[in-house]
Amino acid sequence: MLFLGAKPDNTPSFYSFMNYADFGIGTFHPKKGMYEVILAMEELAKSLGVTIKTEQSVEKINVTDNKATGIVSNGETYHCDIVLSGADYHHSETLLDKVHRQYSEAYWEKKVFAPSSLLFYVGFDKKLENVNHHTLFFDVDFEAHAKEIYDTPKWPKDPLFYASFPSLTDTSVAPEGQEAGIFLIPLAPGLEDTPELRALYFDKIMDRFENLTSQNVKNNIIFKESFCVKDFIDDYNSYKGNAYGMANTLLQTAFLRPKLKSKKVNNLYFTGQLTVPGPGVPPSLISGKLVSELIKKHHTIKTYESAI
Ligand SMILES: Cc1cc2nc3c(=O)[nH]c(=O)nc-3n(C[C@H](O)[C@H](O)[C@H](O)COP(=O)(O)OP(=O)(O)OC[C@H]3O[C@@H](n4cnc5c(N)ncnc54)[C@H](O)[C@@H]3O)c2cc1C
Repeated sequence: MLFLGAKPDNTPSFYSFMNYADFGIGTFHPKKGMYEVILAMEELAKSLGVTIKTEQSVEKINVTDNKATGIVSNGETYHCDIVLSGADYHHSETLLDKVHRQYSEAYWEKKVFAPSSLLFYVGFDKKLENVNHHTLFFDVDFEAHAKEIYDTPKWPKDPLFYASFPSLTDTSVAPEGQEAGIFLIPLAPGLEDTPELRALYFDKIMDRFENLTSQNVKNNIIFKESFCVKDFIDDYNSYKGNAYGMANTLLQTAFLRPKLKSKKVNNLYFTGQLTVPGPGVPPSLISGKLVSELIKKHHTIKTYESAI
């Protein structure tokens, strides 16, 4: 619930389906991790004739007479019949001249964003005890941390955190006898992010982790990488470094979210976690499906439905 962008006490009971998904249906892990899903999608896209170019950074969307005519990426101009952006919605609009943008900076500033996160990817040279694939450390005051995300944004005094050890389920993610761990602290977006703060919070959660799981692990760390607000901005152009897009609060749901189709540029579309239906992997995939239907409705294009 917290990651959807709302405190549970403000969240419509509709979201109780999340609990049903966890406890009623169960959780699943793609063998070798989430990246395998990306590779499968790449294979499917290529089999349908799609050309994929990676390591591209789109710098500009060119518009003439309210029609997107092309994009500039890595200094090269590509002519386009339709432009569909899956990047952060706010960032995508900054690639347009101001006159073609639908939403002002004031609009984005007023919106409730889902949290950012401080993440640590840690390799241990031994198997760990008393942990599961998914372990939630909610041993501190949940309300206090939730307030520090949503009401009075600041670095949490006593952070709750989530730890994942995929190597307990999947032998491909760590060598035999070793463990791969991911630690996540949800944070308000837009917070100051420094190496010192990251180090301070790593120590905080490692102390608690050792106490609560009754073992020493600090001397068994052989790899450590962190990712936080600054990286979400630098690597993903994410608005204020948010990790999960725009919150799905009642007034930011369905038709109240930024639109899939630009109101100002006829053949420009958006998809992903800032538009409909909202944050998360399944909603982002559904967003892709919705926008594809909209594009088919407005443009004459060759479809590959039979292959899918
Ligand atoms: C740590 C973490 C844990 C999560 N856990 C879960 C979970 O358990 N379940 C769940 O459902 N969701 C989870 N999420 C959320 C989920 O990952 C996102 O909601 C989803 O990936 C968003 O998809 P998207 O396609 O909208 O955006 P993204 O996956 O962010 O894709 C946008 C892409 O656009 C690229 N881009 C940006 N600017 C440009 C540019 N100028 N030129 C070219 N490319 C550009 C970015 O590099 C990026 O690759 C988690 C997210 C994080 C960070």
